[in-house]
Amino acid sequence: MIAVVHHSDYVTEAPVRSTYRWGKNGAIRDLLLAAGKSIVWHSPNAAPRRWLEVVHDPAYVAEVIAAAVPREKERRIGFPVTANVARRSQLVSGGTYLAAQIALEHGFAANTAGGSHHALAETGAGFCVLNDLAIAAVQLAAEGRRVLVVDLDVHQGDGTAALTAGFPGVATYSVHAEKNFPARKACSTMDVPLPDGTSDDSYLDAIRSTLPSLIARFEPDLILYQGGVDPYAGDRLGRLALTDGGLAARDMLVAEMALEHGLPLASTVGGGYGDDVMAIARRHVDVILRLGQAFERGWRGGTARTRSA
Ligand SMILES: [Zn+2]
Repeated sequence: MIAVVHHSDYVTEAPVRSTYRWGKNGAIRDLLLAAGKSIVWHSPNAAPRRWLEVVHDPAYVAEVIAAAVPREKERRIGFPVTANVARRSQLVSGGTYLAAQIALEHGFAANTAGGSHHALAETGAGFCVLNDLAIAAVQLAAEGRRVLVVDLDVHQGDGTAALTAGFPGVATYSVHAEKNFPARKACSTMDVPLPDGTSDDSYLDAIRSTLPSLIARFEPDLILYQGGVDPYAGDRLGRLALTDGGLAARDMLVAEMALEHGLPLASTVGGGYGDDVMAIARRHVDVILRLGQAFERGWRGGTARTRSA
């Protein structure tokens, strides 16, 4: 059985003036429902306001919750922060935290949204309002966990790196297209910038030659995975050249490393852009199903350290 965290309010109508394709989360849900009985569904609570205020500026949190985000910040985000969008952001952050809790117990869980890695302290950016990865990671660290955020979206996890930099219980790893958004990169615990057009073999080699040393050095209790599918060659906002097979090999490589170390893994959706929403949703669902299946086969329970906080 694969644990999936989803809330009906993840699927919301597109606000006006939105450049983001809002149909994706509904399509992900529908494709997972069609995948059959092997899924166990969990519904999250909204992340409490005090969790948001630990990583975001309380003034920005107040703007989001009141659906009163200034227009210039909404332009950076890419859509207006309506009351529905604000509530969704809190639910998705609670969902990433819940997926981590389930993973700590059973090895793996997926959030059907999240991976909002561009949201910064005082503003959202790049289709991200609140940074669910940073919010969940910092809360888990406060509970005594050591959290490694593995961000394989084609864009750098700049917000997550910046927001978690002061927390010794959180480490960040980002593999991204060097010339892609954001123009100003943050400093992750480990960054792996790649040239435009990087294809499957070089991409996988880059992970193989960097991630094991970070896992060995940081000794995490849990991986939060941002499994964006925008490194795909045909992605509208990507600059890399992975095939579908390359994306699958990427996920399996991360799953193998996690399983080898007895590390639970919670996945978030991340980026994936283009006109064919169903094809993109299918790629996101493939990430969830292959990680879930890898953990069904390979999870032997956590190590003594990862079991106790
Ligand atoms: Zn992205």
